[in-house]
Amino acid sequence: MDRSLCIHTITTKPWTLAEAAKKYAAAKVGGITVWRDAAQAHPDGIKAAGELCRSEGLDVVSYVRGGFFTAAEGAARQAAIDENKKIIDEAAELGAPLIVLVCGATPGQSLFTSRQQIQDGIHACLDHARAAGVKLGIEPLHPMYADSRSAVNTMGQANDIAIALDDDHVGVTADVFHLWWDERLETEIQRCGEAGKLFSFHICDWMNQPADFLNDRGLMGEGVINVRQIKQWVEATGFRGYNEVEIFSDRWWASDQDAFLGKIVDAYAALQKS
Ligand code: ZN
Repeated sequence: MDRSLCIHTITTKPWTLAEAAKKYAAAKVGGITVWRDAAQAHPDGIKAAGELCRSEGLDVVSYVRGGFFTAAEGAARQAAIDENKKIIDEAAELGAPLIVLVCGATPGQSLFTSRQQIQDGIHACLDHARAAGVKLGIEPLHPMYADSRSAVNTMGQANDIAIALDDDHVGVTADVFHLWWDERLETEIQRCGEAGKLFSFHICDWMNQPADFLNDRGLMGEGVINVRQIKQWVEATGFRGYNEVEIFSDRWWASDQDAFLGKIVDAYAALQKS
């Protein structure tokens, strides 16, 4: 079995990091993306959390998440930059090469202003990221989150910021959940790849008529996204990184996690068949 499958710790939220690492490795999953809460809850500290994952044979793929750069007040924006530098240090300690950025939005502030603040905030973190050897992936979020989570809502906007910053430590994280509806998606994935900015790829599914807009994501194949098509566009750029399964789901979290892990592995295998 190929090892291009990675799972986010949030996907199996009921498990501790140690349980998740052991179970993913036993299921022949190749990588683990560690969420900040899971790393911080690890009793022996963040460095040990990374060592534990590697001792199970897993690659630590990313650290989730940094960002939230926007604010009306300059002092709050500076506090966000300081917090992101701390997150960069944690990623380095964990041994994660990449931090996913949920960039932020401030209710009532123009999205144009927020995007400029995001670009400035990332720029202010770049020297720190370079020194730590950690890259930053701008993750566009679905526009339903443009009120307070992210003013970066399309692959095109993420590309614009990543390309404008022109630094090999800044790129884009593409997530099918947030991007599937965009008529320009194929073109922008291609543009991202040509610019050398496609850093990581997240998969799950969009349930038809979701029960909740945050915590009712589906397993690949359960919903309406043509994940295989988007995966092909991503691979056509030359991307050979992990396919990271990131599912927030009250429904799946309430189910047996061992059975759920089996379903993830099966759904991914089905996706691999052309
Ligand atoms: Zn994601």
